[in-house]
Amino acid sequence: MNLQKKIESHIRIVEGFPKEGISFKDFSGVFQNAELSKEIIETFADHVRGEVDLVCGIESRGFIFGFPIALALNVPFVMVRKQGKLPPPIVSASYELEYGEATLEIVEGQIPAGARVLIHDDVLATGGTAAACSELVKKVGAIPASYSFLVELDFLNGRSKIESEAEVFSLIHYQ
Ligand code: AMP
Repeated sequence: MNLQKKIESHIRIVEGFPKEGISFKDFSGVFQNAELSKEIIETFADHVRGEVDLVCGIESRGFIFGFPIALALNVPFVMVRKQGKLPPPIVSASYELEYGEATLEIVEGQIPAGARVLIHDDVLATGGTAAACSELVKKVGAIPASYSFLVELDFLNGRSKIESEAEVFSLIHYQ
């Protein structure tokens, strides 16, 4: 079985969660398979090796593979968190979600100016979250160099919000 098929077999699709009309992709089953998780981390890391200086993982499921990708690349990891979780001084950017609105924050000083950044999250839906993260990276003078996602919801076209500036790599696509 190829990697895509293996991942798909570990994803549970929950219709109407957390709201009517949302088809939620629950891939917590992936984390129960250590071999599969290691293969995913290596695949993400191999894709950007030598091209990024730092990894940003978006709260909360972007932390799960984001940090091990950074370790595999031997580069620093920065948590991009929802509003109010990080102590000052912080840098922030607001965005719209597939279901709601929110603000993302990082601790000031953790992303050096000029750093080539991999922005990693679990799902690319409308692209609002990834675009806000890209805003944060640019606000501190760094470069959104690449994006990676476990799952991309192609029909929401989130890619169009971010692909003009850097490559977008997703392991699984839903039409
Ligand atoms: P967006 O800003 O619309 O691209 O949304 C991306 C974020 O929302 C990711 O951090 C996901 O965790 C979450 N998300 C959005 N839609 C879904 C979905 N259908 N299934 C699982 N997570 C989702």
